[in-house]
Amino acid sequence: MNYRKLLVKYGKKLLDKNLVAGTSGNLSLRGEDDDIFYITPSGMDYLEISEEDIVKINFDGKTIEGNKKPSSEWQMHSEIYKNYPNYNAIVHTHSPIATAFSVCNKKIPMILIEMEAFLGGEIEVAPFQEAGSLELAKSILPYLKKSNSCLMANHGVVCCGIDLNRAFLSAEYLEDAAKIYYYSLNIGHPKIISK
Ligand code: 13P
Ligand code: ZN
Repeated sequence: MNYRKLLVKYGKKLLDKNLVAGTSGNLSLRGEDDDIFYITPSGMDYLEISEEDIVKINFDGKTIEGNKKPSSEWQMHSEIYKNYPNYNAIVHTHSPIATAFSVCNKKIPMILIEMEAFLGGEIEVAPFQEAGSLELAKSILPYLKKSNSCLMANHGVVCCGIDLNRAFLSAEYLEDAAKIYYYSLNIGHPKIISK
C-alpha cells in the first residue's frame, strides 16, 4: 500500500468536501508495523502537501522518516491506534455543522439509518481539552467504543475506520447527519430512531 499517496489524496478531499478550513484537521494511517503510523505534517496547506511531506512516526512521536513536523495532534492518533487495534485510519476535521454542535455541547442523536451503518449510532461530545494535548487524546478514547467517531467540545470531529476510505466516509456522513439534524431542529421536533 502506498500510505503517503493515500494521505495526500484524502487531504485534498478534505478541502473538496468542505470538511476543513485552511490547514485545520489532519489524517493518519497505521503503517506496515502495528506501532508506527503515517501522518500529515503540521500546519501545511493540503494543496501543497506532497508524498515526501508525510511523516512516519512511532507511538512516542519519534520521527522514523520525514523532515516535516508531524501534526500537533499526533498523540490523539497514537492513543487511538494503541487502544483500538481494529482502527487503521483516522480523519480529524473541523467540519462546520458538526463542530457547531460540539460548540453547543450537544450530541447528534440517531436520526438516520446511515448513522448506524457508517458511524455505529449516535455521536457524543467529549469534554473540552486543549488542542494537541495528551489530555485531549485520552478524553476521546471512551467515545470510540460504541461508535467509530465523536465530537470534541469547541474543536471538531474525529472519525476512525478499518481503512482511510471508511474513516473518510464516516467524516462525510457525520457532517451530513449534523446538517440534517440542524435543519430538522429548525423545522420542528426531530424524531429519534429507537433501538
Ligand atoms: P495540525 O496542522 O498540527 O495537524 O493541526 C490542525 C488541527 O486541527 C489541530 O487540532
Ligand atoms: Zn483540530
